[in-house]
Amino acid sequence: MDAPDRSTIWPYDERGEPGEFYYARYAHPTGAAAERRLGELDGGDALLYSSGTAAATTIVLALARPGTTIALAEGAYYGTSVLFRELEPWGLRFVEYDQRGTPPHADVVWLEAPANPLLTMPDFDAAKRSGALVVCDATVSTPVYLRALERGADVVVHSATKFLTGNHAALLGATVTRDPELTERLRTFRSHTGPTAAPDAAAALLRGLADLDERMRRHTESASELAKRLEQHPLVERVRYPGFSGLISFDVADGASARRVETSTRLILNATSLGGRHSTIETRHRWEGERVPPGLLRLSVGLEDVDDLWDDLEQALDSRV
Ligand code: PLP
Repeated sequence: MDAPDRSTIWPYDERGEPGEFYYARYAHPTGAAAERRLGELDGGDALLYSSGTAAATTIVLALARPGTTIALAEGAYYGTSVLFRELEPWGLRFVEYDQRGTPPHADVVWLEAPANPLLTMPDFDAAKRSGALVVCDATVSTPVYLRALERGADVVVHSATKFLTGNHAALLGATVTRDPELTERLRTFRSHTGPTAAPDAAAALLRGLADLDERMRRHTESASELAKRLEQHPLVERVRYPGFSGLISFDVADGASARRVETSTRLILNATSLGGRHSTIETRHRWEGERVPPGLLRLSVGLEDVDDLWDDLEQALDSRV
């Protein structure tokens, strides 16, 4: 694939009028191409941002007002609650709730399908019935397993840093919306505040989307098999796996055991993040404290041979200090 166009300016036309692209903060050709492709997959209009968190920040700042309450899925990506807390001095309020049930009264319901790392799935109908604006973080599902707009979400948000680009090499976020007014509001806010995605990250997304179906199928096959084998392991107390995609979380006895497992893997990287072709594992207690069990390990199953992954997990589980 050719290098992306990294220009920041494009000349006006012969009448002195701006064309589709004139200044990269507003739009650039690689970003627009990647947005078209992701929009097709998700059934809406996609916009790219410099990270998943930049996408979430844009949604909140563009659509909320002081006094807006967000009902956030419990056990969802920790950084989303950290972001909302950062915005509290500006008048944002948020409450956490069990997304498998009915949300409390709120202006915005923020689902995560499935929640990372607790891997619950939301009740979309209950969220929709509440009458609130429904945002769904579909990072772990990807459009291969979930087109959240069709389930009633008004805004889909992705950390494209994960499965969508798929190689731990691009930081990128996206929103997908169907309502033209919502899309325009997000686009205008992005232009005015500047969290635009870089052309290189957009090019990484185009490459990632080209083999997304195939990668997601392999992530799911291996993760399903590893979830089954983990269930049988005597030192594993609980396995959470939604049945699709590449994210598993499992509990061992306590924090010390979890630390031993994560530092004993050889093939699986002891690193944060998820969704890459290289598997990663980490305890989440180090970041999230009491929100998660101390013995919880989050495993992002990559594209390595499943038996090699199992051998690595088994020797790490069985290792002694
Ligand atoms: N949403 C989910 C489910 C995530 O796992 C993450 C990051 O781990 C984010 C959003 C934030 O994305 P980014 O790191 O691209 O800002």
